[in-house]
Amino acid sequence: MAMNGYEGGLKMIEELTTNAGQIQDKVLREILSRNAGTEYLRGFLHGQTDKQLFKKNVPIVTYEDLKPYIDRIVNGETSDILLAEPITGFFLSSGTSGGQRKLMPVTAQVAKKWELFRGLYESLVIKHIVDINQAGKRMELMFARPEIETPSGLMATSVTASIFKGSGFRASLPKLYTSPSETIFCPDPNQSLYCQLLFGLIQREEVVMIGSFFASTVLRAIKFLENHWQELCYDIKTGRLSHQITDSRCRNAASLVMKPNPEQADLIENICNCKSWDGIIRKLWPKARYIAGICTGVMRQYTAELEFYSGGLPLVSSLYASSEAFCGINIEPLCKPSDVSYTFLPNMAYFEFLPVKNERDESIEMKSNNEDTELVDLVNVKPDQCYELVVTNSTGLYRYKVGDVLMVSGFHNNAPQFQFVERKSVVLSVDMEKTSETDLFKAVTEAKALLDPLGFILTEYTSYADTSSVPGHYVLFWELKEKEDKHCKELDPKIMVECCFRMEESLHYTYKIYRKRNIIAALEIRVVKQGSFEALMEYCVSKGTSLSQYKKPSCIKSEEALKILDSRVIGKYFSPKSPL
Ligand code: AMP
Repeated sequence: MAMNGYEGGLKMIEELTTNAGQIQDKVLREILSRNAGTEYLRGFLHGQTDKQLFKKNVPIVTYEDLKPYIDRIVNGETSDILLAEPITGFFLSSGTSGGQRKLMPVTAQVAKKWELFRGLYESLVIKHIVDINQAGKRMELMFARPEIETPSGLMATSVTASIFKGSGFRASLPKLYTSPSETIFCPDPNQSLYCQLLFGLIQREEVVMIGSFFASTVLRAIKFLENHWQELCYDIKTGRLSHQITDSRCRNAASLVMKPNPEQADLIENICNCKSWDGIIRKLWPKARYIAGICTGVMRQYTAELEFYSGGLPLVSSLYASSEAFCGINIEPLCKPSDVSYTFLPNMAYFEFLPVKNERDESIEMKSNNEDTELVDLVNVKPDQCYELVVTNSTGLYRYKVGDVLMVSGFHNNAPQFQFVERKSVVLSVDMEKTSETDLFKAVTEAKALLDPLGFILTEYTSYADTSSVPGHYVLFWELKEKEDKHCKELDPKIMVECCFRMEESLHYTYKIYRKRNIIAALEIRVVKQGSFEALMEYCVSKGTSLSQYKKPSCIKSEEALKILDSRVIGKYFSPKSPL
């Protein structure tokens, strides 16, 4: 399907969503007819391509089930054991939300799909916000980790890095983006961010969009700017890049465009020097029309702070995608972050949905044995029902559980729209209870309201199930910041104890019963020094996670990550009261 201009894109979205059922059947037919002969599918389909047989015989799997096949390919065996199309490399998932980093085969088709997916989304931006390709430049913060060579000789890279490497994208960089590719591919994330901010500030009059893949990265950039604006202004004033930037490719890129500009530096300095950074983004980039960055899922917690800096600019959550598949786009880009839903595009992969229980109290699966649960087709999902996403694609994933829980919020023509609910694997548990990412988010939201009158805001949190003593208990790591950054306020221990109680009270019924029966001990809040979550992120990035795809873990599972936070604890609080 060709797309001509943004109107062509809008038309295509209508066609795809109207014919969602037929397109899904066609997508599955094509995947099966190409791949039925692979070693993996032969074992279940015996060379046949019938949809009913596929549904009956092909098992629902996780990464662990496919790993032996993927490992064989990584180690040099031919990829047609799993997929027919030749592979060009591997995607490396971030592993920051679910824990483990996964390798997934990539084919030439994937880049084409991404171009189409992104093009369709851009049609919506042009319709609803601004002609992004004509109005000016995007200050999009992008970070690409170096590729890793696998024993097969093929390279593994993050999905975002592979997008940034695409020739079409690179060609569009100078005209459409403020960041030169040297800064995107700089191996040191802090040098990369410094330079991307510098280029964004130098071109501030042209910037129409400030963004990154996830909202947390935009927020991190603003906080980084809070710490480095003087240095950046000095660079702009003198036309010379700070000596702290040692990356030679970044230095070369800067030397091509930097010249002394004391007027601009003074303007920026005056803006940054003001008492409050309320609305700073709009002041620094006066032509900006919106902030792009996914604000759903684990990113919800950053929305309020980003709104503070945004000066009323809309926060736009663009799309829902993963290393496994590009799934849905937000067809109402200007809606409130809390109302965002993603309309699934039926030509991206074959999507099925595993129903999951939707009650507030128990985020427990409807049936523990998934094999017995009927998977629902894309067009047959029911409004308000939650499902776990299962993907079949042309790159060797067949009935693969992505690990995300989504809720149907409506339909656009015949294509369902989903709100992102949570990562399935992220659960806290010290006994038989399960506490999900959403349960935690709600409880933290209730408790953090108590900090407001004290002049503190919660900037980051994560959790940990401490079972080192019996009974085990939940630990919440909180990083706090003074609203006015005067560093003079004391945390009131009584309020912190009250926060613990409010959290416990806001958790689900099973938790409260277990607390009452002393099956779970009192929840603990450990307040950590400012910068602790930055250190956690730096650790994850040093282990190979792409900064562009970094999602702070909702629950800490690694010893090293725990040590990083524990070594920065400045206060520990428990509530003596039981919540029931
Ligand atoms: P990765 O494993 O690095 O490919 O990251 C993909 C994961 O990021 C998805 O499976 C989701 O858990 C999360 N994600 C991607 N897009 C969104 C979105 N729009 N809202 C919430 N979470 C998202």
